[in-house]
Amino acid sequence: MSRFICNGLARISEYVPGEQPRDKKYIKLNTNESPFAPSPAVITAAAKAAAGLNLYSDPEQSELTSVCAKYLGVRPEEVLMTNGSDEILNYAFAAYGDKDAPFVFPSLTYGFYKVFADLYNVPFREIPLKKDLSIDIKDYFDTGANIAIANPNAPTGLLLSVKDIEQIVCKNPSRVVIIDEAYIDFGGKSCVRLINKYDNLLVTRTFSKSFSLAGGRLGMGVASEELIKDLKKVKYSTNPYNVNSMTAAAGIAALKDADYYLSNCRVIAENRDMSGAALKKLGFKVTDSSANFLFVSHPLIGGKDYYLKLKERGILVRHFDKAGASEYVRITVGTAEQMQKLIKVTEEILALNGGEKAENI
Ligand code: PMP
Repeated sequence: MSRFICNGLARISEYVPGEQPRDKKYIKLNTNESPFAPSPAVITAAAKAAAGLNLYSDPEQSELTSVCAKYLGVRPEEVLMTNGSDEILNYAFAAYGDKDAPFVFPSLTYGFYKVFADLYNVPFREIPLKKDLSIDIKDYFDTGANIAIANPNAPTGLLLSVKDIEQIVCKNPSRVVIIDEAYIDFGGKSCVRLINKYDNLLVTRTFSKSFSLAGGRLGMGVASEELIKDLKKVKYSTNPYNVNSMTAAAGIAALKDADYYLSNCRVIAENRDMSGAALKKLGFKVTDSSANFLFVSHPLIGGKDYYLKLKERGILVRHFDKAGASEYVRITVGTAEQMQKLIKVTEEILALNGGEKAENI
């Protein structure tokens, strides 16, 4: 840190992204990317758009916005495209957080909510999860605060129903409720349609997971026209050309190929259930994930130890050194072959850790 940094920035702890190692080739199951490449049409569309990179991208992203709106069954005025969904979350904290407009979110959830609150000096309260790591929706009734909930939650993978979400939204009419649906395509039901009924609901989505475009950086917010206008105000006050032309072209092509991506999601969900069951047989506690990751712990090996032992053997998963999460690791669901390798290597690690006992658990 330099001596010039302002106090506001100096005091915050920034977000620490998952490792993106360049040293050797790992089976990379640590940042919830898709193991499947973008479809050929997406690669072609992005390459074609590269020829026009001398010009700025469309600040309104009209074509992409209308294709997305159509896909989601809403109006284009109800959609704002962003540079990953991190950017729409950033906009939302900037637009709705204030010293008099605090935020609440679960104590174990996506780490960026706390970082954005800190960045904008917004007071926040972290609401503990239930013992089984699920969210008690009653904790979110009449909070007097803006709310951010990932659904399914990360890193637990646990899902709330649309009915549960609706109760939270209607019990907080004077505040904004952000439902972060980064992982909704892997088994959940989207609450997007509720935006027609509630003017305080913002649903955020990403192309990073189910649409194999993590490196393209494309996300969006879906909400009432009035909320979208607020969020556009942040965009036009910070980064009007937030979505680049190659990514916009890739996004349009990806939605035209939605069947390819949604069938990949079904494969990932099958691999999740298959590998979750195999890990349970080895004595792991495995949350009932509706996302493209598993959140697991084992009585014979600590989370950090398991993470390090997997890494030594060429498999990268994510460990969170945080109260309530440290005995767990989060494993992104990859291809069937990658998951079989994970299970095999895990068996070897457990055998070295007195795993014969695992059979009896
Ligand atoms: N929300 C959740 C719950 C996430 O796990 C992530 C991924 N790190 C994001 C949002 C942001 O993803 P992206 O910016 O790639 O859309």
